[in-house]
Amino acid sequence: MALSNTERKALLARIDEEIARLREEVRQGVETSRKTTYALVAGEVHDDADDAVADLLTDVEIAEVKRDLNAIEQLEAARQRLMGSKAGECIDCGVTIDLARLQANPAALRCRECQDQYEHTYAQSAAAQR
Ligand SMILES: [Zn+2]
Repeated sequence: MALSNTERKALLARIDEEIARLREEVRQGVETSRKTTYALVAGEVHDDADDAVADLLTDVEIAEVKRDLNAIEQLEAARQRLMGSKAGECIDCGVTIDLARLQANPAALRCRECQDQYEHTYAQSAAAQR
């Protein structure tokens, strides 16, 4: 059974909330790494060990910002899908994804069965990439 309008609206609100939260995180992450860069350029960090820490910190922050941006992208794609005729449908088998599952993860593309299958199939190559 397809999602009702009420369910769809609730999910859209949930997605908007999540996107707003992630955007704020990205904003803060960029700000922090700017401050770190500034401290380095301004010569506030001169010790070699501190330099290494600052570099590491920046890499972690960059990774976090990238992850957040990626999540925003996925949520925006989910938003598009929810507005369309395939709202809440599994991209593999077309069944309507469990509402509880969508509420927990609004960016879910697949029903639980297909996701398990997908992870099982790609688990090895994903592990190899790490
Ligand atoms: Zn499925």
